[in-house]
Amino acid sequence: MLTTTETIAALATPVGTSAVALVRVSGSLASVLAETIGGRAPLPRHALRADYRDQSGNVVDDVLITFFQGPRSYTGEDTLEISTHGNPFIAQTILEDLFSRGCRAAEPGEFTKRAFLNGRMELSQAEAVMDLIHARSERALAAAHQQLRGSLGRRMTALIDHLLLLLARVEAYIDFPDEDLPLEDVEVVRRGTAELRDELDKLLATNHYGDILRDGVKTVILGEPNVGKSSLLNRLVGHNRALVSPEPGTTRDFIEERLTVGPHLLRLIDTAGLNPNPAPLEKLGMEKTVECVEEADLILWMADATRPLPSLPVDVAARLTSANTMIVLNKIDLVGDLAGPITLPEDFPSIKVSALTGVGTDLLTEAISQFVDAFRVEQGPEIIAVNARHAQALKRAISALAAATIKLERNEPVELLASDLRETLDAMGEISGKIDNERMLDRLFATFCIGK
Ligand code: GDP
Repeated sequence: MLTTTETIAALATPVGTSAVALVRVSGSLASVLAETIGGRAPLPRHALRADYRDQSGNVVDDVLITFFQGPRSYTGEDTLEISTHGNPFIAQTILEDLFSRGCRAAEPGEFTKRAFLNGRMELSQAEAVMDLIHARSERALAAAHQQLRGSLGRRMTALIDHLLLLLARVEAYIDFPDEDLPLEDVEVVRRGTAELRDELDKLLATNHYGDILRDGVKTVILGEPNVGKSSLLNRLVGHNRALVSPEPGTTRDFIEERLTVGPHLLRLIDTAGLNPNPAPLEKLGMEKTVECVEEADLILWMADATRPLPSLPVDVAARLTSANTMIVLNKIDLVGDLAGPITLPEDFPSIKVSALTGVGTDLLTEAISQFVDAFRVEQGPEIIAVNARHAQALKRAISALAAATIKLERNEPVELLASDLRETLDAMGEISGKIDNERMLDRLFATFCIGK
């Protein structure tokens, strides 16, 4: 349980002018404050209209307060939500008044951290809260919702239960140092660890899809000037009613745009210059193109249907495979059903479109969606997509399990085997947070926003 009973307060909505702003309070003072502000004992989960008066008795705003009695609250503690008019000055005045009444400013993620420490959610669910807030595509939202409802947690619990059974079998022999593990148990543990290893490998493999959901599908558009890249982009944006925000490329000069295509978020990087014989100045751009292609999840190779397909520089061509590249044959309106002068390499899927008329763009959106969905390692209804922290813990669990397997094969003492299995257990426990690691928790919740 939580050791501190300090009452924290913060603005839960963005700073700025809006219709409504929400100030959140959590801790042992919450019920007293609810009564002071509301003028009577609060009824849990009932909204009450009140004049918010500061310590000097001045009315700050006409507010709506809702009291949640712990443990039936987000944080598990007594919690108070104060809805004010969305003027940042009002919210700030109320916050300062709350501070003068004994609250302190909440740190980033502190509400959710308290929810975790009070057992209201496990760690992967707390992380899902952040994913949910930041999700920018249908799939990312669905995955965050599922994780929030405990999909990953349930999976880990089942695997931990499985491991505990194996560990129990091994530990039963620790007190008998002269005895080897009976052959029957060796076999059970061998099979059990192999199964567990498979499951952990599968989970780890979902990390790539997790990155895609959280950061977007890194997509590179290759194509010569005038092939219709901008036109296609505009078409996709308009077609999907998506938000386009030009953002400078992370480490390079290319402009990166984010847009949703179907249920996915794409980080689209428009590369310049596909000259097979580049001038010295162009060379740098080419090197960057190669770098981009190397890191890309998806490459859209755009071609102009009215012209022969120019060959790609060898460095680029060497990196294109049917698993990462789709050819987009544009300006199909100019050649009709005829193939035109172009011959496409057969190794890649291709889609014919006209960015000008919009023909084929539906199919392109659909093809991109299918392409990206194929990155999901598991195709069931449940989307599991682990994050970088989970992946690190999974790698530690897998390597401890590999060490256990070797010890089992070499018939080493059971204590050593048990120690590796306990290390596996500890690493797996990190994912749901069944461990006591203050520093890790501080680091993790510090990435949250204030008021969450
Ligand atoms: P980018 O340099 O690759 O970005 O190419 P743009 O999108 O600027 O297009 C170059 C020219 O091709 C413009 O005049 C466009 O109107 C034209 N264009 C683009 N797509 C199509 C298409 O599908 N059909 C036709 N007929 N013209 C197109």
